Amino acid sequence: CSMAEASEDNIEKFRKENNMAFIVGYTGETGSALVKQLAKDKIFKKVVLIGRRQVKLPPEIGPEFEQKQVDFDNLDKYADVFKGIDVGFCCLGTTRGKSGTAGFVKVDFDYVLKSAELAKAGGCKQFHALSSQGADKDSRLLYTKTKGQMEEALKVIHFPRLSIYRPAVLMVNREESRPLESIARFFLVPIAKMFPTAITTPMDVMVKAMVNNVVSPSEKTVELLDNKAIHHISGISVKCNK
Ligand code: NDP
Repeated sequence: CSMAEASEDNIEKFRKENNMAFIVGYTGETGSALVKQLAKDKIFKKVVLIGRRQVKLPPEIGPEFEQKQVDFDNLDKYADVFKGIDVGFCCLGTTRGKSGTAGFVKVDFDYVLKSAELAKAGGCKQFHALSSQGADKDSRLLYTKTKGQMEEALKVIHFPRLSIYRPAVLMVNREESRPLESIARFFLVPIAKMFPTAITTPMDVMVKAMVNNVVSPSEKTVELLDNKAIHHISGISVKCNK
């Protein structure tokens, strides 16, 4: 696990910079796992949690985490929330099943873009966005097409550093009941064991990859992390994990 050791050094250095972060989509599965990971690693002096509602945070979440409720349809009114924040994480997303086609595009494209624009205007140096395996602006499928278009639009904002993550199926016991997804995950478990980087991404791998990537210095202004890269940078191998 030498990757993990290297990351510990970077974490230590980054911590001393006293950066601030925000997370949009912090109430979701990935967002809440990221909150817990950040509470453990303590790499930021302050983390602003931006969402459409406030939630009860688990007891291990320290006072450096602050919730801010916003109206995503009028996000311009909340520009101040994004001001002076060094690192932005975007874990926003919905499904067509939950929100319909227009609702899906609104959240997975419009809200992501608006958050990114306000972040950039507020001085954000690193923007870390969750996309998906298969993202392709020319895809004929709404999901992968919207993700691809979102990626392209983010690139045009020209962050000093933009990291786009393309995980596969995120393996987590979802709080919200989505029976079809649970059944699919059940069948994915044996495949995940045999081919860990093929079609699954354990949630601990996902969020540790984001943390390790944030603290790793990079010359690239845009980086695309596919599922293999996510596994690699997480430093969590199947063996290390057990
Ligand atoms: P979740 O559905 O668990 O969480 C989504 C987040 O977005 C929540 O914080 C939710 O807030 C917020 N959100 C949804 N709709 C709205 C809305 N209308 N207004 C404001 N906020 C909203 O997502 P996941 O953690 O599963 O996924 C995160 C991202 O990763 C998504 O972009 C997804 O497409 C992508 N991804 C997911 C995979 C998976 O297997 N799950 C695989 C590959 C990529 P609230 O809690 O208030 O609803």
